[in-house]
Amino acid sequence: LAFVATFLTFFFIRAYWFRRAARARGAATYHEGAWWNVVRIVFAVPIVAGLVLYFVDPSWLAGGRLGLPDALRWAGVPLAFVVLALVWWIQAALGDNFETRLHIREHHTLVTHGPYRRVRHPMYAAFYLLALDILLLTDNAWVAGTIVVLLTAVMLMRVRHEEEVLLAAFGDEYGAYMARTGRFLPRLRQAA
Ligand code: SAH
Repeated sequence: LAFVATFLTFFFIRAYWFRRAARARGAATYHEGAWWNVVRIVFAVPIVAGLVLYFVDPSWLAGGRLGLPDALRWAGVPLAFVVLALVWWIQAALGDNFETRLHIREHHTLVTHGPYRRVRHPMYAAFYLLALDILLLTDNAWVAGTIVVLLTAVMLMRVRHEEEVLLAAFGDEYGAYMARTGRFLPRLRQAA
């Protein structure tokens, strides 16, 4: 139940900010081709299959059971609150510049405040934390593993490209931002 509640809350947070941004978007340039939709579908199938099977009856995925201690699994409940609050904070900071696809919109602004102050991809980092939380809540390697594989594939295909697109759009402003921030975690040493 904690897993279903966490997953649905995450879904509604995303849907809320996605609709808000879509309404404000106006003209936008997209930087990912049709192959991106193919990738999404290919990776989504095992994830959705895992989620549906687990939602209906976890025993159907018993083969992926890890046998984590109960206390560790329960730690997934407070962690869910932390992750969901973090996702809300990140979405609110990114605001109308959010899209699930790589894009630059007409009135795109470079966000460098809040969670973006020291980290360039807090949303992607938060997704890994969500995957960890799902691992604890479900105790299932299949459910969490398929999500981690998708995330990692997206990271490998997108992050560098996303930074190039933002660098092209914002020039030196993004260059300076890159110099003072970390990709997924804050920099330990600040650039002089
Ligand atoms: N990679 C970011 C954002 C993911 S949402 C994160 O992990 O937090 C993807 C969209 O965010 C992309 O279309 C990109 O145009 C936009 N984006 C990424 N970083 C941004 C920033 N600092 N300011 C404004 N838009 C940004």
